[in-house]
Amino acid sequence: MPGEIENSEIVRDPRPVVRKFLARQQQEGLGAIVRRSIGRFELKYFDPFLALDEFSVTAPAGFPDHPHRGFETVTYMLQGAVTHEDFEGHKGTIQAGDLQWMTAGRGIVHSEMPAAQGTQKGLQLWINLSSKNKMIEPRYQEMLSKDIAEVEKDGIKVRVIAGDALGTKSPVYTRTPTMYLDFTLKPGAHLQQPIPVSWNSFVYVLEGEGIFGGGDGGGASKLSSVTAHHLLLLGSGDGLEAWNKSSKPLRFILVGGEPLGEPLAQLGPFVMNTQEEINQTIDDFDNYTNGFEKAKHWRSEAAIALGF
Ligand code: MN
Repeated sequence: MPGEIENSEIVRDPRPVVRKFLARQQQEGLGAIVRRSIGRFELKYFDPFLALDEFSVTAPAGFPDHPHRGFETVTYMLQGAVTHEDFEGHKGTIQAGDLQWMTAGRGIVHSEMPAAQGTQKGLQLWINLSSKNKMIEPRYQEMLSKDIAEVEKDGIKVRVIAGDALGTKSPVYTRTPTMYLDFTLKPGAHLQQPIPVSWNSFVYVLEGEGIFGGGDGGGASKLSSVTAHHLLLLGSGDGLEAWNKSSKPLRFILVGGEPLGEPLAQLGPFVMNTQEEINQTIDDFDNYTNGFEKAKHWRSEAAIALGF
């Protein structure tokens, strides 16, 4: 196509868009607004992904003290800042462009609250852990914006949060093999990004309008034109093909992960394999055992300030 910018990655069998959702706004936490795509009733689980929220939080709203077990939360800030405090005494603030990759493992109790004026925006992805990793010790991987590899080529900018793109690899260690790429395509840019064939993958559009899907652009029925706040589930193939045929920048995330193929038992922020394990988790949380010991005498500073 004339004027189209090509990059050098080869995708021979581009993945089609098999489902498309608009992530509508809903209330979560304490007065926070989220656009949930994965994790809502039509799409309870997209193995290994449990939830994707685009959140919007203005003080005094937020996510005061709450637990997690059995999976990972990946928080990527788009605007403003959020302060995180947990029951181990770990405390930190992530700002626009920063990332926190939290492995809850056997148990975390924490708060996530606005840390700046105005509205804080970001994405939070929940990635399931395999049965052998559900009860591991909690761990954090935090990356400041300046430490996230950013590569630009042929009208395509990518921030490599996990996995690799345009020859650059992220240092983030993912227990469940995962790729997480933040792409911005200039008008006219054409992307081909390989994705391991056995993985599940999706796109979430943050800004602008893009064309996604299989084929060479000739089969209109195979292509999908998409605007912000839409989630696209990709079918089988060896990569993503996307075009920006608009006059404005197109920004989206591409996320892929190796399916675990295990039974799922979930009660809100507890994600295990069986109902028995969920019952055990409720007992552990109620009795401060098996990883929840430190929850007994802990309240976040944020919760205390709110009068909890
Ligand atoms: Mn949380």
